[in-house]
Amino acid sequence: MRRIYLDYAASAPVLPEVLNAMLPFFVETYGNPSGVHATGREARKAVEQARRQFAEAVGAEAREILFTSGGSESDNMAIRGVACTLKEKGNHLITSLTEHPAVLNTCRALEKHGFRITYLSPDTSGLISPDQVREAIGPDTVLVSIMTANNEIGTVSPVTEIGAVCREKGVLFHTDAVQAAGALPLDVHAMNVDLLSLSAHKFHGPKGTGVLYVRQGTRLEPLITGGSQERSLRAGTENVPGIVGAGKAIEIATACREENNKRIRELRDLLIRLVLERVPEAQLNGHPEKRLPNNCNFSFAGIESEALLLRLDLAGIAASGGSACTSGSMEPSHVLQAIGLEEEMSRGSIRLTIGRETTLEEIKTTAQILPEIVKDLREMRGWKKNG
Ligand SMILES: *Cc1c(COP(=O)(O)O)cnc(C)c1O
Repeated sequence: MRRIYLDYAASAPVLPEVLNAMLPFFVETYGNPSGVHATGREARKAVEQARRQFAEAVGAEAREILFTSGGSESDNMAIRGVACTLKEKGNHLITSLTEHPAVLNTCRALEKHGFRITYLSPDTSGLISPDQVREAIGPDTVLVSIMTANNEIGTVSPVTEIGAVCREKGVLFHTDAVQAAGALPLDVHAMNVDLLSLSAHKFHGPKGTGVLYVRQGTRLEPLITGGSQERSLRAGTENVPGIVGAGKAIEIATACREENNKRIRELRDLLIRLVLERVPEAQLNGHPEKRLPNNCNFSFAGIESEALLLRLDLAGIAASGGSACTSGSMEPSHVLQAIGLEEEMSRGSIRLTIGRETTLEEIKTTAQILPEIVKDLREMRGWKKNG
């Protein structure tokens, strides 16, 4: 059976160019980048090249790029690092209800240590406004963390404007840009951000490698202490193959961004149009325009998304519930709840995310199979339109 992969927001395949760039660093150039010998120096050189590749991609200086084990660690490092460093200054942080669990659960954990967190509530399209942030900032606010683009519903935040508010108020601004890399232009100066998280496997790099951009002069307490790697901010021997692959992946993602997105956006718009045409009582979740070019998030009345995902999988189509991180549990998605979706619609929601390997044929096949399965599931439950 031919498989159709529509779960790029969960992970994307490593590109052959990326894999080839990584391979020499397993067996040939295996030295520890801290070594003084030739093989160590070569590994060091490769790590520093990857650092420059990321700096170039986000408009930063190489020394402002830190390598981590992924998006989750980058988010933790930004939030815990700032909270810990500035706790004498204030104990208040601001975030939103639609953040990734790497941000939300980190904030929840800080609450147990005496920090006060404001969780801003989005509008029905998933947007947080700069004015909401302005109103929430107080004299004891030390950090605002608002994601660049949402991983479930694809809504793109007004990060530049939120960053401007933070700058005006003298508060540090972190953004989880994990879903934005490769999809949106990233420029840390234009975006007014002090800290920005990335994860390589979301843009065709290897899993287990992430980046945290830290604006020069931003003090941060390390999460992992030990050796003096990453300017003593993240101890541990560098994941050299991962870092090299991540550098190659961000370079390609940036170079191909506009061309890829044009094609991906057309496929997305076609899929949205066909599904909404063919399935009665269906809706698109998230902002209609301010959304990631590859994201479709649908709700279908009268079905359970678990059943739909299983049937799609049997038909060879890989999709995802609200988010991969909460699937397996029957909890309705925290994002769909936050945008005020009624329980029935939130239970019947799925996410289809498109990538650079997706073909027109695959979209057409999906737009044919999906409505049939929804119809079938509804009939099995005796569901009737409008009760
Ligand atoms: C995937 C994802 C993360 C976590 O990244 P990992 O590298 O898997 O730890 C964080 N934030 C967002 C928005 C994501 O989509």
